[in-house]
Amino acid sequence: MDFEELRHHAHRQVDWMVDYLSTLESRPVRSQIRAGSILSQLAPSCPSQGEPMERIFADFEHILMPGITHWQHPRFFAYFPANSSPPSVLAEMLTATLASQCMLWETSPAATELEMRVMQWLRELLDLPEVFTGSIQDSASAATLCALIAARDRATAGQAARAGIAGAQLTVYASADAHSSVEKAVRILGIGSNHLRKIPVDAEGGMDPGALEASITADRGRGLIPACVVACLGTTGIGANDPLEPIGQITAREGLHLHVDAAWAGSALILPEVRSRLRGLSAIDSFVFNPHKWLFTNFDCSAFFMRDPQRLVNALTLTPAYLESSLGGNTPEYRDWSVALGRRFRALKLWFVMRSYGAEGLRALLRNHIAWTERLSGLITGDDRFELVAGPNLAMLAFRLKGGAMHSDAQVDALNERLLERLNGAGRIYLTRTRHRGRTVIRFVIGQTYTQWHHVEQGWDEIRKAAEELMAQSLREAETPY
Ligand code: PLP
Repeated sequence: MDFEELRHHAHRQVDWMVDYLSTLESRPVRSQIRAGSILSQLAPSCPSQGEPMERIFADFEHILMPGITHWQHPRFFAYFPANSSPPSVLAEMLTATLASQCMLWETSPAATELEMRVMQWLRELLDLPEVFTGSIQDSASAATLCALIAARDRATAGQAARAGIAGAQLTVYASADAHSSVEKAVRILGIGSNHLRKIPVDAEGGMDPGALEASITADRGRGLIPACVVACLGTTGIGANDPLEPIGQITAREGLHLHVDAAWAGSALILPEVRSRLRGLSAIDSFVFNPHKWLFTNFDCSAFFMRDPQRLVNALTLTPAYLESSLGGNTPEYRDWSVALGRRFRALKLWFVMRSYGAEGLRALLRNHIAWTERLSGLITGDDRFELVAGPNLAMLAFRLKGGAMHSDAQVDALNERLLERLNGAGRIYLTRTRHRGRTVIRFVIGQTYTQWHHVEQGWDEIRKAAEELMAQSLREAETPY
């Protein structure tokens, strides 16, 4: 394909992109296909001769698009959002065109220096301690892994990277509701799941600091080496917060690294009214949140801040002759700040987004999501067939359909599973479940760029209608008297 053909197809694709985004509402949110149906339509081996772009694009539309779950759909209320925005899309087009590899200052000076600047902007917006420096990682999972590498370095006085941890029985602490990425990191680092302490949570879902302290003391008594506490702001299940202030006092006293996983909720720290409710950020050692979740920046973009990046850099720096470069002077060589050597130019989309919306524009969008979640919680509590189980926590809540007096917990759980499947199967709304205190609950998260209050209202109407149908069906089937 020559450059004029590229121009021709790019123009067509831009038209397609805008048509797609502006008609997204008419598509089912969750893909309605069965497993294997895409694979069976794909050529079993690579074509020996090149094919025309028209044919490739037609297959994209006809074969692949039915297998897309539409994350930018305004009625996507599942998981946590992975929202995008027009300025972010524009930046990604440039990133793909430049196709820079940003491992060293020398390989992409603008990428390194823009990353330094946008991370400083973000740090100021979140009001994180001024000593923090940041880098952009591909995911919160990778950032938590890096935080644990730094913690491991500190707990072993810098020995672990070279000597390994065979003789050092390190332990890590996180709440029972922490994200699975913490346990994955512990496994990758050779610390092992058995040395991850899952600390109980209180009634609100936050880590119990007393239980944390008791666990650290017990481990020291056994000759183990406590290394890190991972606290969470905005748990994946119900959006709960671990109490940073008492946890920070414990980690300071015990000399442990305190990492904060705020993958979703961290974006809300750009709101002064949210920050003022949160104490304890001054005592933390590292912090991650995902602009690719709730700050309108395409996946992947994870903002990772460290008080002392040198521990991580010490552990990861390896400089074979082919990577030697001194042109960057005192700027960071970000290749030493993450697992992969190669890095995408992720700062560009963040810069486009932050400049295009401005801090106030971003705040206004998040405030809408939070206000609509509160409004939705009022609708749920006003309907006695439903129960608000958790929240609203920022822009998420969890609810369930109540059972009748004679229903067992298991029957109510099954009813909610059926409600969820009915809703997601119909495709007009997408929600996901979690288990909360051993019971099935349905999560509702508002965070899409294109969502408006009427989409939330439509979502609630769908839920009420599906619940009515389900109850009527239950009666007809006489499974259980409703
Ligand atoms: N931490 C929390 C609290 C999360 O909710 C998630 C994902 O939803 C993650 C970590 C993992 O994020 P990532 O996909 O960026 O690794």
